[in-house]
Amino acid sequence: MSDESQELGITESKSHKPGEWYAEVVQKANLADYAPMGGFIVTKPRGYALWEAIQESLDGWFTDTGVDNVYFPMFIPESFLEREKDIVEGFDPEVAWVTHGGHDELEERLAVRPTSESIIAPFMADWTRSHRDLPMRLNQWCSVVRWEATETKPFFRTKEFMWQEGHTAHASNEGAWEEVWTRLEQYERVYEDVLAVPVLRGKKPEHDKFPGADTTTTVEALMPDGKSVQGATSHNLGQSFAEAFDITFADENEDEQTAYTTSWGLSWRALGALIMTHSDDQGLVLPPTVAPTQVVIVPIWQEDTKEDVLEYSEGIADDLETAGFRVELDDRDERNPGFKFNEHELNGVPLRLEIGPHEVDDAEVTLVHRPDNAESVADRDGIVDAVDEHLDEIFDKLYESAEENLEENVREAHSPEEILGTIGKHGGYVKTPWCGDEACEEVIKEKIAAEIVMQPLEDEGGSTAGDVPEPDHDECGVCGDPADEIAYFAKSY
Ligand SMILES: [Zn+2]
Repeated sequence: MSDESQELGITESKSHKPGEWYAEVVQKANLADYAPMGGFIVTKPRGYALWEAIQESLDGWFTDTGVDNVYFPMFIPESFLEREKDIVEGFDPEVAWVTHGGHDELEERLAVRPTSESIIAPFMADWTRSHRDLPMRLNQWCSVVRWEATETKPFFRTKEFMWQEGHTAHASNEGAWEEVWTRLEQYERVYEDVLAVPVLRGKKPEHDKFPGADTTTTVEALMPDGKSVQGATSHNLGQSFAEAFDITFADENEDEQTAYTTSWGLSWRALGALIMTHSDDQGLVLPPTVAPTQVVIVPIWQEDTKEDVLEYSEGIADDLETAGFRVELDDRDERNPGFKFNEHELNGVPLRLEIGPHEVDDAEVTLVHRPDNAESVADRDGIVDAVDEHLDEIFDKLYESAEENLEENVREAHSPEEILGTIGKHGGYVKTPWCGDEACEEVIKEKIAAEIVMQPLEDEGGSTAGDVPEPDHDECGVCGDPADEIAYFAKSY
């Protein structure tokens, strides 16, 4: 390897130093960089393209299920935020405030939105007059700011982050539940079918739900280092926001009723989960579904074969492009094939086609899978179908490997020692009966910083309340008191 290609490559190890490794992959694969202010990042074109791939899928599904996009101001008057005291309390230490406009002190402080319930709800109240106005489903793609004093980790922990926030109002509690499940299913689908990251569906324990919510549902993804990522949340807000902001409507008998509301959000943390799940010590690994370049063609020539090899490669690039694949022909003169292989591996291009004089003579193409270097040969004639099949195969490989990690890492425990020992040794999720008392979570949290990340749901995608199944074993895994719930403990991002 030349000095140059060593500098290009990843030097940290995913299994030994996952934090350093992750930061290196993000920077060297050109996804993001650190901003001059602590806690902020600059998203580069290749990183933003991944976010756009998520947006494109989700936004299409939102539209198909009755959601309208809107945009509200990034500033929220303090008095608006205070109308929902649970929100203020929940976010108080994390809110960034604007106190001046130019040289003048503002009469009322403005919060930089930590979430938009308190500015959207008053308008929903205004727009909701009759039962015919419901359901009302609004969504905005924007960024929010939460001033947390933690170490910056691109896409996982930043003071400002990109997300979408959906806000809906319904005439009945059933309507609100249906909405909660619809969004949770779409989040599950974007993780599993687009990002190749399997997730568990659940709800947050009472003490950890969104401020003011009746129920917070979540999809959780397990990272290879044994920590859980909260992938997205969908909240049933019951009538608390509707009561605070007067979201009422006239029913069919012209009687005034209070609406039921929901909110739901997915942030670019999904990119963090994507990068962390699939990438390796050679760099970024991406499923073909989101990869900005799905196929790279690397021609390998000598002076006397250059013309033939290039012409053959261009024909293949044209065929693939016409068929709709995102393809790049890397015909740079100044780089040798070895350098190109390394660079495209680092950047996570899922499939590489190698074309030399032998391939030209035999009317064939050599295909190499990014995740595991599996190599095979296909006929030139059927190259479009072959590439299609190989990309599917690569997606399946990534999904199956992540699924295996998830399945192997859900374990049961029935005592505090067993919970601590199991998480300490293996990471992953520890499933235990739970009495419902937050104090029992504290016992575990204090010792190893693991918490209850979710409770499984009884009614998979059902239309009403998210009940937790009864445990078989009826003593709390921490205190031994009677338990009628199940909790999943894990360390989390
Ligand atoms: Zn207990």
